Amino acid sequence: MPEIIARTATADYPIFIQQGALDHLGERVAASCQGRRTVIVTDDQVGPLYLERVSASLKAAGFNCGEAIVPAGEGSKNPERLAFLYARFHETGLSRTDPVIALGGGVVGDLAGFAAATWLRGVPLVQVPTTLLAQVDSSVGGKTAIDLPQGKNLVGAFYQPRLVVMDPAVLHTLSRRFMADGMAEVIKYGLIGDEALLDQIEQQAYDLEWVVARCVRSKIAVVARDEKDSGERMLLNFGHTVGHAIEKATGYAAFSHGEAVAVGMVMAAAIGEKLGETDPGTGDRIRRVLEAYQLPVQADVPLQALLPAIFSDKKRLGSRIHYVLLRRPGEAFLKPMTPNELSAVLGEVWPRG
Ligand code: NAD
Repeated sequence: MPEIIARTATADYPIFIQQGALDHLGERVAASCQGRRTVIVTDDQVGPLYLERVSASLKAAGFNCGEAIVPAGEGSKNPERLAFLYARFHETGLSRTDPVIALGGGVVGDLAGFAAATWLRGVPLVQVPTTLLAQVDSSVGGKTAIDLPQGKNLVGAFYQPRLVVMDPAVLHTLSRRFMADGMAEVIKYGLIGDEALLDQIEQQAYDLEWVVARCVRSKIAVVARDEKDSGERMLLNFGHTVGHAIEKATGYAAFSHGEAVAVGMVMAAAIGEKLGETDPGTGDRIRRVLEAYQLPVQADVPLQALLPAIFSDKKRLGSRIHYVLLRRPGEAFLKPMTPNELSAVLGEVWPRG
């Protein structure tokens, strides 16, 4: 069973990836945290599937467990649900050494993570990710946030977990759409720095535990070198500038995050090929692998509707947008572009431009 140690400037923590890990969660949390009270935060789809097992394991290890169940979906990443979590922490008597357990996908991880970062100025956080996206991406690296009416992830904190426990077996209950969603991020890891992973995904001959571990190792390596997202960590945003813009322009309804990122990766390859920066044929290879996982390769959205969101991207530094491009599959780099340069090349490659 892989036990991976994440090392960042602010914290080192173990990541366990193991079939059946949910049943050993209590022992692991007890070994990492002093407190013996906890609140398990989950959503109303994950709760019925896994809360009882997690709670039983924590109780067996001597924890007094409170629960906070929020409605499933992005709509729960808001200040009202955050206040609900604080109320549950207060009722349970959560003190500075008592951990918060985030049992769920990226929504629960981000919401519970931000609540843990801010309750009593920070209590231990244990991430127990249950979607492929949360296992390969959101549960490690320490980004936590909630949304505001003005935009997604506007209020948040960099706050590393004390411990991350992943049970690949829980992915068997995940819907096909959310599985594909996470696969878009897996393909992204392959494209930006791990061609061997991409090969396995293309051949559809992989072991999920191996894939999760491989992606986690890639992410923590990048986060170790750039915890606060000022340089290399931006490479993890490959496909995300256009992806976020598609999500925003379509009201976060028509495309899931992974679907939007899939289109964004195709566009980034097209831009790179047009500029002569990316090996010819890269875009075709990306399209083939995305289609094999039932992910979209284009979006029926006018380019004009995307440009405002592209130019307000958080990854903008000064007057330039640092666009993530590929030299070839397995090698990414940041290309600074002015808004004019970017909109000109996008106009050439966007199918409905
Ligand atoms: P999600 O948390 O909404 O989960 C997707 C759906 O799957 C939900 O309905 C959930 O109830 C259900 N589900 C979860 N696990 C399940 C399981 N094992 N079996 C059956 N159903 C299950 O969505 P997500 O895609 O995991 O996360 C998206 C969120 O992650 C977004 O808010 C995004 O901003 C955030 N995110 C954060 C980071 C970060 O670094 N913090 C990175 C990427 C994305």
